[in-house]
Amino acid sequence: MARKRRISRSDRALGMDRAITRRDFVQGVAVGSAGLLAAAWLPGCGQQQAPLPLAAQDRPGYYPPRLTGMRGSHPGSFENAHALRDGKAMPAPVELDEQYDLIVVGGGISGLSAAWFYRNARPDARVLVLDNHDDFGGHAKRNEFELGGRMALLNGGTFLIDSPRPYSAVADGVLKAIGIDAAALEPLFHKQDPGYYDWHGSGDTGLFFDRETFGADHLAVGYRNRPWREFLAGAPLSAAAKRDVERLESAPRDYLPGLSSTEKKQKLMKMSYRNYLRELVRVDAQVLAMYQAQTQGLWGVGIDAVSALDCWGVGLPGFEGLKLEPGSIPGMGFTPAGYADTGGSVRVHFPDGNATIARGLVRKLVPAAVPGGGIEDLVTARVDYAQLDRPGAPVRIRLSSTAVRVQNDAAPTEARGTRVTYVRDGRALSVRARECVLAGYNMMIPYLVPELPEAQRQALHALVKTPLVYTSVALRNAQAFAKLGVRRIFAPGGYHTGMTLNARLDFGGYHSARSPDEPQLLWMERTPCQPGLSEHDQNRAGRAELLATSFETCERNIRDQLGRMLGAGGFDPAADITAITVNRWPHGYAPEHNSLWEPELPEAQTPQVVGRARFGRITIANSDSGGGAYTDVAIDQARRAVDELLESRPRA
Ligand SMILES: Cc1cc2nc3c(=O)[nH]c(=O)nc-3n(C[C@H](O)[C@H](O)[C@H](O)COP(=O)(O)OP(=O)(O)OC[C@H]3O[C@@H](n4cnc5c(N)ncnc54)[C@H](O)[C@@H]3O)c2cc1C
Repeated sequence: MARKRRISRSDRALGMDRAITRRDFVQGVAVGSAGLLAAAWLPGCGQQQAPLPLAAQDRPGYYPPRLTGMRGSHPGSFENAHALRDGKAMPAPVELDEQYDLIVVGGGISGLSAAWFYRNARPDARVLVLDNHDDFGGHAKRNEFELGGRMALLNGGTFLIDSPRPYSAVADGVLKAIGIDAAALEPLFHKQDPGYYDWHGSGDTGLFFDRETFGADHLAVGYRNRPWREFLAGAPLSAAAKRDVERLESAPRDYLPGLSSTEKKQKLMKMSYRNYLRELVRVDAQVLAMYQAQTQGLWGVGIDAVSALDCWGVGLPGFEGLKLEPGSIPGMGFTPAGYADTGGSVRVHFPDGNATIARGLVRKLVPAAVPGGGIEDLVTARVDYAQLDRPGAPVRIRLSSTAVRVQNDAAPTEARGTRVTYVRDGRALSVRARECVLAGYNMMIPYLVPELPEAQRQALHALVKTPLVYTSVALRNAQAFAKLGVRRIFAPGGYHTGMTLNARLDFGGYHSARSPDEPQLLWMERTPCQPGLSEHDQNRAGRAELLATSFETCERNIRDQLGRMLGAGGFDPAADITAITVNRWPHGYAPEHNSLWEPELPEAQTPQVVGRARFGRITIANSDSGGGAYTDVAIDQARRAVDELLESRPRA
């Protein structure tokens, strides 16, 4: 007899028993992942081609952007890669009767750009793109909902066209080719919702002090807008801590007197911001807790693991009196001083973030898959996934396909071709191509190409990505936010440390909610980390935690946190949440240089550069190979990887 699951009173109050959109359903049809699981590897049939089942992406109604529940690295996307890492036996691959000029492993912005660059150079080329996820775009994923009869969008990962460095002509060229002129679009986006971009001083940002960290729950509204004394009046901080916040934020003192600007920067580069605040600014421990998560959105770790110099670079307080000269110094982290004024544009974002860039690239590569033309209709276009992998098409994008082996057909100097084996639906399949770009996670490459030189393998192993979670929550309305006068909340001790109501944005046929009475989306951010460890160890611990956390646990935490933060505004977590998508990225941001733990090396000796060396007819892209977690890096690295192939072509 089936046992009815008992639910606690507190879970019922949170709404854990409510029927919200939270499971993997597309238009009422469950998209099972069982066929993808590595544990179910089916035996291969040697060289004979077994009849392949109809791929999920070719079935009617397949539309992953609408899936809710656990997304990002969703169940079914990573198990084959982990089986390979763990040395589990592979099934014998079946050789497919397909031949390509180029195979790209990884269908993120880097892989899609690589396919595009290659086809630009060789318009007759036939290209296959493989990706382990059930959707293309890599981190640049789209979360699509229907709220109140209207399409509502959020980014499931990659969000802004920003970068600490100006976009290169190459990266800018890709954007322009798909119709994105960030500078030209800026006024249109900014005008509609200036407070979304310039939130400093916009008045509707709150800071939530949680009882576990600060002793009592309290939401303070008007962060960096109201006078500090007023803002902190009801905060559960000691009088000394309140005075310290004010001193830190408002009193420009030189905490490193007697040193030149360069000497100060050198000191700050080797000191965490936490230590700077504790030892030089000498703030109260409660102030450290209040600022602990300030760096988590950008770096995925707290102020204990980011240098004070990088924190100066992004405008955190406490440096004004040091009178540092603008600009970075050698060895500074990837994010140089002046971050906010460089890059593509920090004042433009598409409703689904940079998924629009991925969709624009797919439109270029497989026009039949993305109807329409021009950037205005790209946001609302419904991708026809069944067109992505058509026999005979010059470019094919094959989803739910994890590459597990990549080989040159001879010694690297003699190679004339490559062979890629991937696992899909429990079968191992092999395909041949003249050449291959690996645009997936670089740290996986030693498992794919074990014959790489040892130094290169070590360099690739040294790359550790940052885990993070972007959660999209559909709300019945935003009345509680309106009553409390907030739209963005920082929660330094919370499960999610930041959240923002979706931007007010109309673009082409897309129209966002304007009134708090309308249903709308809330974006939330969580970066699992363990202060006290080195950055990479925090990343590893966070990744393990993410993979071990069930959707149910995430949901309970989301409901609890929103209920406590917004309760005074009448928010009822049981009634007001209508759908949840947790975009989990255990392998998130590309590794960037951290001056606290890593030696300053000449560029040529950095792990990303040593690790990305061409190996015969195989080259390496992805933002990992550029040492920067940004879209422009992903595109620039794709161009380099394709150029390396084209420039090293063996004579026919
Ligand atoms: C949550 C989040 C937010 C971000 N926000 C921003 C932002 O606002 N602005 C910005 O510029 N950047 C942002 N980034 C950085 C982002 O990583 C880059 O901008 C860019 O999207 C990376 O593209 P990529 O193609 O290099 O890598 P990815 O997007 O990671 O794509 C690589 C793809 O290859 C797949 N893959 C890996 N191994 C295999 C294999 N063996 N077989 C098949 N497929 C494989 C991966 O699963 C993935 O789908 C963000 C990243 C994350 C995680």
